Amino acid sequence: MVEAIDAIAAEIAPKLIGYRRDFHRHAESGWVEYRTASLVARRLANLGYTVHVGSTALSDGERMGLPEPAFLAAQWERAREQGADPVFLEEMRGGMTGVVGELRRGQGPTVALRFDLDALDIDEDQTPAHRPFREGFASLNSNMMHACGHDAHTAIGLGVAEVLARVDDRLRGTLKLIFQPAEEGVRGAKAMVAAGVLDDVDYLVGHHVRSGSAVGEIICGMGGWAATVKFDAWLQGAPAHAGGNPQSGRNALLAAATAIQNLYAISRHGGGSTRVNVGRLEAGTGRNVIPAHAHLVAETRGETQELSDYMYARAMQVLEAAAGMYSCELLVKRMGEAQSAQSDQELSERVQRVAERMGGFRFFAPLSTGGSEDFTFMMRRVQQQGGMATSVGLGADYHGISQAATEGRDGVLGAHTSLFDLDERVLQVAVRLLSAVTLDLMKPRPAL
Ligand SMILES: [Zn+2]
Repeated sequence: MVEAIDAIAAEIAPKLIGYRRDFHRHAESGWVEYRTASLVARRLANLGYTVHVGSTALSDGERMGLPEPAFLAAQWERAREQGADPVFLEEMRGGMTGVVGELRRGQGPTVALRFDLDALDIDEDQTPAHRPFREGFASLNSNMMHACGHDAHTAIGLGVAEVLARVDDRLRGTLKLIFQPAEEGVRGAKAMVAAGVLDDVDYLVGHHVRSGSAVGEIICGMGGWAATVKFDAWLQGAPAHAGGNPQSGRNALLAAATAIQNLYAISRHGGGSTRVNVGRLEAGTGRNVIPAHAHLVAETRGETQELSDYMYARAMQVLEAAAGMYSCELLVKRMGEAQSAQSDQELSERVQRVAERMGGFRFFAPLSTGGSEDFTFMMRRVQQQGGMATSVGLGADYHGISQAATEGRDGVLGAHTSLFDLDERVLQVAVRLLSAVTLDLMKPRPAL
């Protein structure tokens, strides 16, 4: 069976690169992946999958960090002009950009694979040193760039969809291919979980391409993601003449500054590692005016859910106290959220055994990155119901990050930078592996 998968994966390899470059060129950030999602839905439908979009794929009230309605509408138009599928696009208005493809093949387990769709809010490098620019597939969309490899993830998802549709007589059970919007800022997974997409899943497999690790190097059972809350805080005071009447103002900038200093002063915790960051502060209006408003963009993290809850609760206490000191009103909005989670060892080992049988892989032990991933919401839902979940790290280094690190250049080449690129050989490798793992989980069992 592995031979059949290898043959199909090899046959479609050029197409996978085509998909990746097309998605890269039309990069779309979270909740406006209209073109990408509608084309995915169309392709899945053409391959014979039952396609779920709209509220069966996403609970609209649970979407976090949604852009303004005017931006959602303008981006919908942009996607239409850039060749989105007109039928599915209609069903995705207002940022309903999740897609689930389902294939039912009789009695057996429900197996789900997850692929994320979105780009980052980054302007892509436009110099000949950057391959996507040099070869004509750099992002056409300003402040949107696939700098984390989700373009590859989406292409891999379409590849797996095709392979499995072509060998579907070997499947027993239900296959779900989940295409998730708005992973960046950890905003999208919770809404797919809330729509019930994971409720019947027995096995859940996710993956992420990795720079700093070569194609063929894999980690079975990624884990150690930090739980995190992303939040915005607004402080509202009152303006006044800074020379003539300062005592009648209420200084929101000072409240924000006080809050920020003390957010970083939240006590360390004996239970494990924690983080806090204020990434942006905007406040005030002019030189001689007491600043009446301030806006903070911030996040807290913790190694466990408990530590994350501790950091967020203390952060709220600090903000409220600082607002009180300067008689300002405080408004806080949660913009994104992820949980901590661990891959199930049994499923991780099963993935590794499949990879060993296929050959061509080198295995690395799971490592803790300090990063966060909202795939953890999906993992936890499946695990809560007695199912198993795992995530696979797939080496896809293009720049030779370990070499670049010794030269002090890795910081400008890695994920989330304007020069990010990946080794496209990972597309075929990932399609082979994820297809083989799915077939293994869904193979027909002898009748008892
Ligand atoms: Zn990512």
